[in-house]
Amino acid sequence: MGAETVVAGAMTGEIHAWELGGAESAEALTRWVDARIAAHEAALAALLAVRGPRSPENSLRLYDAAIEQLSLAGAQAGVLNSVAPHKAVRDQAQMEAQRIAMAGAALSLNREVYEALAAISLDRADPATRHYVERTLLSYRLAGVDKDADTREYLKALHQKATKYSLDFSRNIQEGGKTIAATQGELDGLPPDYLARHQPDAAGQITLTTDQPDMQPVMTFASSSALRERMFLAYNTRAYPANQQILLDLLGTRQEIATVLGFRNWADLATADQMMGSAANVREFLAKLDAASREGAQREHEMVLEFARKRQPALKEIDITSRGYWYEQFRRSAFDFDSQSVRPYFPYAKVEAGVLETAAKLFKVQFRRLDASGWDPSVSVFEVAEGGKVVGRFYLDMHPREGKDKWFSAAPVVTGVRGRYLPEAALICNFPGGSADDPGLMQYSDVVTFFHEFGHLMHAILGGQTEWAGVSGFATEGDFIEVPSQMLEEFFRDEKLLQSFARHHETGEVLPSETIRKMKLAGSFGRADWVRSQLYYTTLSLDLHDQDPAGLDLDAKTKQLYQSLQPWTWCEGNRMYASFGHLTGYSSNYYTYAFDKVIALDFFAQFDPKDLLGCETGTRYRKLVLEQGGSKPGREMVRDFLGRDEEFSAFSKWMSEEFESEVMGART
Ligand SMILES: [Zn+2]
Repeated sequence: MGAETVVAGAMTGEIHAWELGGAESAEALTRWVDARIAAHEAALAALLAVRGPRSPENSLRLYDAAIEQLSLAGAQAGVLNSVAPHKAVRDQAQMEAQRIAMAGAALSLNREVYEALAAISLDRADPATRHYVERTLLSYRLAGVDKDADTREYLKALHQKATKYSLDFSRNIQEGGKTIAATQGELDGLPPDYLARHQPDAAGQITLTTDQPDMQPVMTFASSSALRERMFLAYNTRAYPANQQILLDLLGTRQEIATVLGFRNWADLATADQMMGSAANVREFLAKLDAASREGAQREHEMVLEFARKRQPALKEIDITSRGYWYEQFRRSAFDFDSQSVRPYFPYAKVEAGVLETAAKLFKVQFRRLDASGWDPSVSVFEVAEGGKVVGRFYLDMHPREGKDKWFSAAPVVTGVRGRYLPEAALICNFPGGSADDPGLMQYSDVVTFFHEFGHLMHAILGGQTEWAGVSGFATEGDFIEVPSQMLEEFFRDEKLLQSFARHHETGEVLPSETIRKMKLAGSFGRADWVRSQLYYTTLSLDLHDQDPAGLDLDAKTKQLYQSLQPWTWCEGNRMYASFGHLTGYSSNYYTYAFDKVIALDFFAQFDPKDLLGCETGTRYRKLVLEQGGSKPGREMVRDFLGRDEEFSAFSKWMSEEFESEVMGART
C-alpha cells in the first residue's frame, strides 16, 4: 500500500466512539478502539515498508497517520472514562485508555520506526516539519529506544505498571466522593439557594457531598468551624487510604524508569524535553517564586489573623480548614464586598453566553449551537466558524452527574489536522445548575475557572489546523499548556466585558460598576498567599519526584513541607496527597501553573486595557501563539509574541496590586 491509500484508509470509520454506541456499550467502545488501533498499526507497517530515500511526504505522513489514530482513540477513551453515563463503559474506557497508552509506549520504544524517522531528509522541510521530526527523535531517545531489546521490554513493562497506577489513582478520586451529615444550625452563613437545595431529612439531618458545588460554599461561608473541618477532612480523604499505596507504587515505578534510562531521578527525565529543561532549573524558578511572594503573603496572613482575632479574641491561629472562611469575612469587612452578593448576577446560562461572546470577539470566530448532544443528553454541542467556514466543534458537559469526573478540565476529542479532521474538544466541568429548577448561581471564582477552561478549548480548536497531528492543538511542551488558559482568565477583570453578560437572574439588573470595583479589589487581596499555595503544591510535586521514594512517608512529607511554606496551621488527618490528581498527569511538573502564570500575565500586559477585545493584540496573539499549536518550541512563541523572554515584572505587579489600591490606604 502506498502512503495515500493508508492515510485515506485511516480516515474511514466513525470519528466519534459514542455514535457507534460506545457511550452505552463497553463492547461497542472496544470495537471502535480496535478499529483505531488497526489503522494505527497499518500506518506503521506501511511506514516500515517504504523503500528508497525517505522524505516527509513518503514517511512522516504515515507516521503522523499512526499518531493521529492513537491520539483519536486516546482522547475519546479518556473522555468516556470521565463522563460515560454507565459504570461498565467507564471501566471499559479505563482499560482501553491503558491499552492505548501501551501502544504509545511500544511505539516510543520501536527502534525500526525511530530509524525510519531518523532517515527522513529534512533538507527542504519547513520549520514546523523539522521541529516535529526533531522533537519526536528526542522523545525516542528519552524513552530509551537505543537500549538493548531486553531493557526495552523491561521499560515497556514499567510503563504499563505506571499507566495502571495512574489510572487507578485518578479513578479513586473520581469515584471516591464522600458524604457528611450536618445539622440545620451548622449551615449558618450559607446562601439561601444552598439551603433550599439541602433540606433536612425526617431526623433533621442534612446530607452534604464532597462534590465541588456542595463542598466549596461550606469552606467559604459556613460559620461553623466544626462543619468546615468535617468537610475538609472528608474531601481530603475521599481517595484515602486506597491511593496512599498506589501513589508510592507509582513514584517507585517512575524512579525505576528514570534509573534504567540513566537519569538521576524522574524529575530530570520529565523536564528534559520541556521548556524548563531540568529539575535544577525548576528549583531555581521556585526560589524566585519564593522570594517574590514571601513578604506579601506574610502581610496578608497577618492582616487576616488580626481581623479574625478582633472577631474571636480567643483565636490563636487560623488553620487550613478556616483559611477560606476568614478570607471571605476579611474581604467583606475590608472591601465591603460579599462574594455571595454577586452570585445572583452569575447564573450559569448567562455566564456561558458571556464567555462564548468574549472568546468570539477576541479571536474573531463565530459559535453556533447544534441540534445535537454528545455522550449524554445534558451535553451541548457548538460549531466554531470563521467567515462562514466551519473550523471546529466543541462539547460542553458542565454540571455534576452521577459517576462523572468531579473536576474541571478541557479535553481533546478529535485532534485536528488540516484537510483531514476538524479539531474537536470538550469541557468537563462541575458548575452549579443543570436542572430546570436551579439557575446555577456561580461564585466569581467559578466564572474565572470557566474562562480558564475555555482558554484551553480555544487552543485546541485554533491550534488544531496544523499540517501534522503530532503538533496539533495542545501538542506544545507540557509546561507551556497553561499559558492560554491563564491568559484568558485575566479577561474576567474587565468591567465592560463583565457587564456585557453579568445580569441579575431575577431582575435583569446589570452588575453595578461599584460592585465590580469592590470585587476586583477583594479578589486581588490574597494573591501572594495564593502563590504560596501554588509554591506548596509545586514543591511537593517536585520533591516527590527528584529523589528516591523508597521509605518516603507521605504524611510526614506533606505536613513538614506545608509548615515550612505556609503560615496557616496544618490539620491532622489531612491526606491531600491521596487526591492530588495532578500528580498523575503533571508528575514532577506541577510548576507548569506558576511558570505559565508568569508568561500569561506578561502576555496579558500587551493588551490595551481600554480595548481588550478590539485591539490588534488579540489577532497577533491568536496567530503567533494559539494557531501554532505545537509547531514550534514554546520559547520561540514567547519571543515571537513579546519580542523578548518573559519577565517577572507583570507577575509581581499583579501580586501586589491590592497594596497599591486606594481602598487599602483608606482602610487602615
Ligand atoms: Zn488548565
